[in-house]
Amino acid sequence: MFTRRQLLTVASATPLIGAPAIVRAQSWFAGYPFALGVTSGDPAPDGFVIWTKLAPKPFEAHGGMPMVALPVAWEVASDDRFKTIVAKGEATARPELGHSVHVEVTGLQPDRPYWYRFTLGSDRSMRGRARTLPLASASPPRLKFGVAGCQNYEDGYFTAFRHLAKEDDLAFVYHYGDFIYEYKQRGPDYDKDGLPVDQVRHHVGQDCFDLADYRLRYAQYLSDYDLQAARAQHSWFPTFDDHEIQNNWVGDIDGRDQSPAEIFRLRRQAGLQAWYEYMPVRAAMLPRNGIITDMYREARFGDLLAVDFLDTRSFRSDQPCGDGFKPYCAAMDDAKAQILSPEEEGWLTRNLTRGKTQWNCLAQQVMMMSLDRRRYADEKEPIYNMDTWAAYRVPRDRLLAKMRGLDNVVVLTGDEHQNYAGLLESGDKPVAVEFVSTSISSGGDGSDLRAGSDMLLRDNSQLKFINDQRGYLVCDVTPDAWTTQFRVMDRVSSAGGSIATRASITVPHGQPSLIIA
Ligand code: FE
Ligand code: CA
Repeated sequence: MFTRRQLLTVASATPLIGAPAIVRAQSWFAGYPFALGVTSGDPAPDGFVIWTKLAPKPFEAHGGMPMVALPVAWEVASDDRFKTIVAKGEATARPELGHSVHVEVTGLQPDRPYWYRFTLGSDRSMRGRARTLPLASASPPRLKFGVAGCQNYEDGYFTAFRHLAKEDDLAFVYHYGDFIYEYKQRGPDYDKDGLPVDQVRHHVGQDCFDLADYRLRYAQYLSDYDLQAARAQHSWFPTFDDHEIQNNWVGDIDGRDQSPAEIFRLRRQAGLQAWYEYMPVRAAMLPRNGIITDMYREARFGDLLAVDFLDTRSFRSDQPCGDGFKPYCAAMDDAKAQILSPEEEGWLTRNLTRGKTQWNCLAQQVMMMSLDRRRYADEKEPIYNMDTWAAYRVPRDRLLAKMRGLDNVVVLTGDEHQNYAGLLESGDKPVAVEFVSTSISSGGDGSDLRAGSDMLLRDNSQLKFINDQRGYLVCDVTPDAWTTQFRVMDRVSSAGGSIATRASITVPHGQPSLIIA
């Protein structure tokens, strides 16, 4: 991978951080060091995070990097041809963090696009585009943003990400998690005749347990240029759900109840470190003592919208009734159960009730509507998904009661691999609207309606819309109305799928209700 002479050159470059001019003249690597692309995230009115990760050989140990810290130059420009550089500097790519680079750029103008790039030696990264937020004191007439997540590499192509990259005027994209799936390559699926069919693509590596496993999985996902395109074109607010660590983990509880908490915490730490390394997030989200305490955070868009990004995994109590899809059990009414930590819940309550913005949005992971999940006629009593808010009745009722009278709350959710829209009720009164975004690829092609959807709609009067295709959401927010477009793919099982708007659903301000077009 490296000749001895190249290694010596790199090793001798270590003390040159701060004085790197001598080493800039040469390319050190057999491969392109920016093969995993660039992205930006956690925008503020005066800046954002720009990200890259050095990996000349993404599928080799340490991405093919030598175990030394290296200086990476970065530039931010006000034009896409880099004629006017408005900020620049040098960041250190450290082996401890897999040679990831997170730069928190400041001093920029609000509510406008910028372009950025990185340089190492004679190698230059692709160009990324980022956007600052409006000032908190501004009154934006309109805001458009995207919602995406759940991207199982084995289930389909990421073509939806390429379409997302081409969506105009998105202020940001919210990612609800399942950026990777932790599984090894799985066995075949079966077609409608019961015959085995191959996955669309295959995971490399075993089930993810340690840092090298998770790093390799992210590297494989980012070898997809549709994903790279969406990452380079937009600024992201990333969150994590379960598959960044393990299916249905919560707190320090193994999702399969196989490892004791002190052992599972090591796996969680590895998964969270890899997530931090690959996401364009601030240093506040560096895992400390094996946990990320500050993933929940807020973004303000003038007086139009506040978005509270929630962490519904790290502080949650165990799923009741042994998890899964089950009939009611008494543990669903456990008064001590929690989805958010007390600190997170207090923070959210303060944000919701302070009345500074026209709209409040909760950007979170698992469904808040309590749905009877029966899909077959022989199921006699209601079935609940124990991994959703439905199974945590006390904290759910407590949160929905806080929304009474606000009439400006929209909840955005992922996890389900289907599109849903419906009402959230406190008592019998609608207090908010929930939009559940489908998946980029997880679940495969799908169809307009999954079998049993008619029963779901019949048994759940609060549910107004279902669709089982892949895609993402585009939310278009004005002071008077919130419109969510459900953008869906005709297919993900082969490359080149097309996107279309399956439904456009509007919430009038001041009236939790859904107008479906
Ligand atoms: Fe998922
Ligand atoms: Ca999930």
